[in-house]
Amino acid sequence: MVRLCLAIWLWLGAALCAAGLAVPARAEAHQGLVAAPRCHAASPADRSPVAMIERAAWNCNDSDWRADQPVAWLRFEADSWQGAAVPRYFFTRTARHAAITFYALDADGTLRARRFAESEGKPFAAGPVFRLPLPEITPATQALLVRIERPHSIPLLTEAGIARHNEDAGRSLEEMMLLSLILGMLLLPLLFDISFYLVLRERFVLYHATMVVAMMGYVLFAGGLVSVVASLPVALLAIMAPLFWALGCGAALLFLSAFLERGALSRGMRRLTFGTGCWTIAVPGFLALQLHATQGFDDIGYFLTIAPAAVVVSAALVHAIVRGSRSAKFVAAAWCPLILTSIERLARGLGLYSGPAQLDLMMFIATGIEVVIISLAIADRFLAIRRERDAALTEARMLEQISTRDSLTGLMNRRAIEARFDDLLAQGFDTFALVDLDRFKAINDLHGHQVGDAALVACANAIRSMGDRDAIAVRLGGEEFVVLLRGQRTLERAEALRQAIPIRIAQDVPGLELPVTASMGVIVLAQAQRPTMQFAEFYARADALLYEAKASGRNRMAYERLTVFSQPPAGRMRRREKAA
Ligand code: GH3
Ligand code: MG
Ligand code: MG
Repeated sequence: MVRLCLAIWLWLGAALCAAGLAVPARAEAHQGLVAAPRCHAASPADRSPVAMIERAAWNCNDSDWRADQPVAWLRFEADSWQGAAVPRYFFTRTARHAAITFYALDADGTLRARRFAESEGKPFAAGPVFRLPLPEITPATQALLVRIERPHSIPLLTEAGIARHNEDAGRSLEEMMLLSLILGMLLLPLLFDISFYLVLRERFVLYHATMVVAMMGYVLFAGGLVSVVASLPVALLAIMAPLFWALGCGAALLFLSAFLERGALSRGMRRLTFGTGCWTIAVPGFLALQLHATQGFDDIGYFLTIAPAAVVVSAALVHAIVRGSRSAKFVAAAWCPLILTSIERLARGLGLYSGPAQLDLMMFIATGIEVVIISLAIADRFLAIRRERDAALTEARMLEQISTRDSLTGLMNRRAIEARFDDLLAQGFDTFALVDLDRFKAINDLHGHQVGDAALVACANAIRSMGDRDAIAVRLGGEEFVVLLRGQRTLERAEALRQAIPIRIAQDVPGLELPVTASMGVIVLAQAQRPTMQFAEFYARADALLYEAKASGRNRMAYERLTVFSQPPAGRMRRREKAA
């Protein structure tokens, strides 16, 4: 199984690498040619572009980025593309917005405008990026103003750029290969999860599988890989990445609450972890939809509501490690890089600082690391659970053995036969032979209990040696045994057994001063209607017959054939024949 998984993993890795290589050569980076905005601003919806021509309206520091205003503005200066090719495209990170309008500002004050709705953005393979064509940029163009209506994300602003070619933006071939490889790696734990679940049926395996699927979705959408295979609208791409991320973080918390060993988390901590998991799927998951109604706060809201997940995960892991959890150490090692890169991404998402989108790759690498270590952790936990279950099973079997077997002779004991008696009767065991050794007390008195025990074992062996599918032997207690028989000539077989007992005892326990014989009381039910007689009733009747056998000189059998009718209740049993 493990070899098969490894082979599939390698194969997938290779296949996805090949897919990465197949990304057209445009993915090759010309990153240096992308110009970034020089200044930015935020305004109410009615601010005209003319009012934005003045430089005073702009913030030209890399700070105070805002995605909670009706309109965000970006300003590119002509000197940023002078000396290079004239830009034709605007690129930025995929995120929700209502519309984008470009104004090319010429030296004479002319504004050339082009407006695009969100749906007109063209996402392209090689990153979570979309592009729009610019209005004509001429040698007279002094600046390019960009008006973004209802922006939902700060990286939509901070990661914007203009360039001559498509391929000037987006991820490099190496980056895409890395993403493909991580995606391939994520398939392996999914296979693991499926095979674990088939054996274990533990909830944490399902949570982990959800987490892995969410991570795969995140790598596909946030990494831009999905654009290699499908051309989806900007709005869908913008929603899916944070939605998968919220689902992944939430599932991680649910996983943690269910995965650690019993007692690794206190009740309160387990509940907090589980509750935060549900919250993370529901609240940031909802904000990830970036509805127009939530535009004023969903960007910051998403990061603020997802932040408790990192805090609770860290607290729960520390808590569990302090309580001596081995699994928590695995999880901590797996999640450490992920938590650190999430915090970095959080800070960038909140606009605390701006960095290149390539920083996201750290998170994807951390995801790959997470997946490998967690798979090991699950395998480790899987083995531990298997060991625990096997030990419990062995113990249960042992207890059952102890409770149903006689410890001296290994025969079935009275408790076992009483429990199964009705079934055995229904299976045709219609002869009940009660065996009692004669004057056994004298053996004990003469030779001691040890020799007495040996004689009892020899007697049990004699009974057992005739044991087949049609005879069941039981030690009721003391030197008293029961043999249940079915099939032909049960009386003769019982008598043969009775006679075999002294021979076997004499053989197995040499030096006995007296022969140890046995007496028997036997009840044989005639084939009539199947009776509903209880064990106690058989026992009492056989005991009475045994008493008769003892009374008439021992070393003999007394038997009775009974015909039993279910109806009428009165006089249910009729003696037919009796002998001693
Ligand atoms: P009878 O022919 O009337 O059955 O005589 P008996 O001596 O066999 O009858 P009784 O029931 O008085 O004695 C049974 C003896 O079996 C008493 C006890 O010392 C002995 N015994 C009962 N259980 C064990 C056991 O587990 N080991 C040994 N060594 N002796 C046992
Ligand atoms: Mg006896
Ligand atoms: Mg007895």
